[in-house]
Amino acid sequence: MYKNYLSTAQKDEVTAKISSAQNIIISGHINPDGDCLGAALGVYNYLKSMNKNVTIFVPNEFPKYLKWLKGADNILVFNQEDTSHVELVLDAELIFCLDYNELKRCGDISNSLQVSSAYKIMIDHHPSPQDFCNLTVSDTAVSSASELVYCFLKQIDNNFINQDIAENLFVGIVMDTGCFQHNSSLPATFIIIAELLQSGINKDNIFNLLFKNSSENRVKLLGYLLNNKLFFLHDKKTAYIYFSKDEQQQFDYQIGDTESFVNIPLQIAYIEISAFIMESDNHVKISLRSKSYFDVNLLARQYFNGGGHKNAAGGKIYHSLSDTVRFFLNVINNTEI
Ligand code: 5GP
Ligand code: MN
Repeated sequence: MYKNYLSTAQKDEVTAKISSAQNIIISGHINPDGDCLGAALGVYNYLKSMNKNVTIFVPNEFPKYLKWLKGADNILVFNQEDTSHVELVLDAELIFCLDYNELKRCGDISNSLQVSSAYKIMIDHHPSPQDFCNLTVSDTAVSSASELVYCFLKQIDNNFINQDIAENLFVGIVMDTGCFQHNSSLPATFIIIAELLQSGINKDNIFNLLFKNSSENRVKLLGYLLNNKLFFLHDKKTAYIYFSKDEQQQFDYQIGDTESFVNIPLQIAYIEISAFIMESDNHVKISLRSKSYFDVNLLARQYFNGGGHKNAAGGKIYHSLSDTVRFFLNVINNTEI
């Protein structure tokens, strides 16, 4: 069975906070992914069913392939120059911080969030959560923030589920486990999935929308990168791909187009680590994945100003693409793998 994360006192406190709060903010992390949005929209649809005023803020745009999620039209990109955005955070009585563990992950909203007197609830599954919320629901053993949201809502309201909530939480769990390939060895995940399916969601349709809905450009880009930009450090069991701004223009790159490309080199039997290195406006973004024993979270924290999970992490480097690739090669060559 899945866990109850709240003590009786916490459950009473949270229930009272939700029932008295009228203005509620949900905050997600930078480069919002399926789990972040699934968790946020799960909570959003629950609170909307209770007639609350709810605003979801994310730090930057999210991929097109997640725009169909129920409630996604209402997601706002936080702009600290916009006083109406800042006021919404300062006036909120309750704030949910979902799928992130430290303030720097939520972008510019962090200043307003810190000074807001709202009761703050973190629901997250990344290691070493920072202590900036009144209540922290954190479990690194759990597949996704969306699974934790399920447990949280179930505990405070046994009848919380409706199809919109179920669809969003399902998407979050599917995306953060790579369709149940990783972070999903606990029976609780599948009990929750069974309960989500029972609410009547259309699983096949959801999979089509997530995985059979991309542009021609994205598929051609994959072919290009695998053929021309995939390199190997054989004695370090490492593969890496890098993707420049010029190439992004050439392929009319849209946010989300390279989603999950970093996983593909792990299909090669001997590869243990895969990196996707992408030039951005004022930095280079690096995504890291490992197949099993190697901890890419530690690597991301130590060398790439980032973090994440043992088998999936990311970070940023404020240098040119070529310097970043050189730095990455240097790090890997000096690391025991
Ligand atoms: P992705 O490579 O898909 O962007 O991210 C993989 C995992 O690493 C996610 O769990 C994400 O939250 C985490 N992650 C990605 N970039 C960063 C970063 O810059 N800082 C931290 N702390 N975590 C990151
Ligand atoms: Mn997550």
